[in-house]
Amino acid sequence: MKKKITCVSCPSGCELTVTLEGGKLKSVSGNTCKKGIEYAKSEMEDPRRMLTTTVKVANGTQPLLPVRTRSPIPKALLKKCMDTINGLVLEAPVELGDTVLPDVLQTGVDIIAARPVQHI
Ligand code: SF4
Repeated sequence: MKKKITCVSCPSGCELTVTLEGGKLKSVSGNTCKKGIEYAKSEMEDPRRMLTTTVKVANGTQPLLPVRTRSPIPKALLKKCMDTINGLVLEAPVELGDTVLPDVLQTGVDIIAARPVQHI
């Protein structure tokens, strides 16, 4: 099976043609560098995404804290991860980079604060 995807590893945005066999990457064309092959393999065999959202904060100068995953997590877990995060309520103060939820869904990836929120 052939599929076209766009490499987003750099602003060039090369259009890749990937060939899959039994769910595994067989070949890649259209890439300008090796990163395109790595991107295609990851995207076809273990697609991952960064997750960014907000979490409620009690007693803070702002009611919501922007948070993100420390690194990409499996794309298939994004919805479940959002459901888990939606149930959180943090207590201010929170510092930039604080871990607000460690090892989310046993992915080995933490959810961290993307900005500070001071106590009121
Ligand atoms: S294949 Fe290489 S040059 Fe092309 S978008 Fe990906 S990283 Fe950039």
